[in-house]
Amino acid sequence: MLNIVLFGPPGAGKGTQSERLIEKYGLVHLSTGDVFRANIKDETELGNLAKSYMDAGQLVPDEVTINMLRSEVVKHDAPKGFIFDGFPRTNAQAQALDEFLAGLQTEISLMLALEVEENELKTRLLKRAEFSGRPDDADPAVIEKRIAVYNNETAPVKAFYQAQHKFVAIDGIGSIDEITQRLFSAIDTNN
Ligand code: ADP
Repeated sequence: MLNIVLFGPPGAGKGTQSERLIEKYGLVHLSTGDVFRANIKDETELGNLAKSYMDAGQLVPDEVTINMLRSEVVKHDAPKGFIFDGFPRTNAQAQALDEFLAGLQTEISLMLALEVEENELKTRLLKRAEFSGRPDDADPAVIEKRIAVYNNETAPVKAFYQAQHKFVAIDGIGSIDEITQRLFSAIDTNN
């Protein structure tokens, strides 16, 4: 299996690039943010819980997120692989993912980390707010909070995959097509 963690701060382009990767490699796309938003829309118990954290720019608690992710993975029968978008966001999530995948006789192949500097992220998120309808994109204070949470809690996850020699940094500045090409070549040379 080809299991990719597509990593990067909010607004780095994970969702956009995921679409390109699933098309080329036939992977299943699992975005924790998308699953939470679908639950909010359907007003499920999980959605109600997640909403309070998401609207404040905070992480949904690990236990809730990990259980949700596991139940999404097992919905797919004999997939070619997964692209994890927005997960893992903490070291505890990364550890849980490793253990869970080991139980399925597979593992993470590669972490591809999109690198984009902070001012560019803020510009992109405010622009996305114009059409995304996401409350967490519309408020500059919530954007600040999400970037701070990324720096404090999520960025350390890079070291987890660096230690396993699975980490590849990708320049996330340029046209969408240019960045896609960088991701394709990273996958093709490292896999
Ligand atoms: P972005 O990458 O632009 O922040 P996402 O859709 O990935 O957008 O995430 C939106 C929100 O969903 C996060 O700010 C967080 O509240 C919640 N969330 C998504 N993934 C996770 C996760 N792995 N752990 C905890 N919370 C998460």
